[in-house]
Amino acid sequence: VSTWNAVPAGPPDAILGVTEAFKADKDPRKINLGVGAYRDGQGKPYILPSVKKLEPPFREISNANVLSQAEEIVQASTPDKEYLPITGLPEFTKNAALLAYGADSAVIKQGAVSITQSISGTGALRIGGEFIARHYPHSKVIYLPVPTWGNHIPLFRDSGLEVRGYRYFNKETVGLDFEGLKTDLKAAPEHAIVLLHACAHNPTGIDPTQQQWAEISDIVKERKLFPFFDMAYQGFASGSTTKDAFAVRHFVAEGHQIALAQSFAKNMGLYGERVGAFSLTTADPAEKARVDSQLKIVIRPLYSNPPLHGARIANAILSNGELYSQWESEVKGMADRIISMREKLYNYLQKDLATPGEWGHIKSQIGMFSFTGLTTPQTKALAEKAHVYMTADGRISMAGLNDSNIEHFAQSVDAAVR
Ligand code: PMP
Repeated sequence: VSTWNAVPAGPPDAILGVTEAFKADKDPRKINLGVGAYRDGQGKPYILPSVKKLEPPFREISNANVLSQAEEIVQASTPDKEYLPITGLPEFTKNAALLAYGADSAVIKQGAVSITQSISGTGALRIGGEFIARHYPHSKVIYLPVPTWGNHIPLFRDSGLEVRGYRYFNKETVGLDFEGLKTDLKAAPEHAIVLLHACAHNPTGIDPTQQQWAEISDIVKERKLFPFFDMAYQGFASGSTTKDAFAVRHFVAEGHQIALAQSFAKNMGLYGERVGAFSLTTADPAEKARVDSQLKIVIRPLYSNPPLHGARIANAILSNGELYSQWESEVKGMADRIISMREKLYNYLQKDLATPGEWGHIKSQIGMFSFTGLTTPQTKALAEKAHVYMTADGRISMAGLNDSNIEHFAQSVDAAVR
């Protein structure tokens, strides 16, 4: 008998499993709206031109033209393959913190942000979960929005935290259940941890307004909750990295200490490079230094130190004024294309096809995803009859739609709900 004879088959991943089903489908009309990866107007993966510019220097160090173009990068990083420090490329983490907190943030000026590079957003969340499980003195309970990104649940559970939910989505209005959210956070035990999607909530595409964020901040303060922000889409929601950082910056300005997970997968299109950061705001530089030392103790036995390449690219963009402006306009370009697809899809369903139901939420939702309101049986029918793939909760990645496939998608949705 084999040693692994008793290992049971696990279920496929709820999101990545959709891609597997999509790949197996041979129909030319097939559409994958499962995974949250940006696609251009031709449905192709998109390498940002600002990123592409930076790729050659790491391979062809002798090319003078490219080198002069990317002067800043070469200065900021050494083009060797040595190990990074445990907490990653220092210039990168410094610039990642500036992007999130803003240059005029008091905690940044004080040198009180403890930050480490991470294996993208997932790794940042996991480092945060591990650190909190070990060092947060008050509670092991973390509240996640219902629904949330599916991976949050096992991630925090595996970190040793007890996962609970707070209401977020109102099925009737296909909008934010703000009353439910407030009630649940007010009822949470003091000092519980609360996970907040900083912008472009996944999977619903529904964000609190700035006014609502201010109210949430007040409740978090009253209840002495600990806010943990997941910011996987800075720039992707509104097209502005500053606007999308509102919640994080508001909480910090209000005097909250926060935990923050950042990802550069979406906003720089660096998915497979796995570049992200985890940070904690602390009281002062001395406390920061102690927290830094403990972050290293968490990370070292996990993976020793993070990968180089993505951090160099991200840092080159963040540290070079010209490239930074180019990148900002490219992020806006992606956000705008998604917004235009929302507009088109809404027009098809609500106007042209007069599809039963109310489709205004397609336009009001924000970021990569739309929660369509399609039921699990309808999503199954869409896959089987129309070769359209999405997660079973009816979430679609808006980025998977383009001028060539949106009509087929709208007609298939129309047929599925009739
Ligand atoms: N948080 C949320 C809410 C996400 O949607 C994602 C990506 N799907 C992540 C974190 C992490 O992604 P990554 O590890 O690729 O940065």
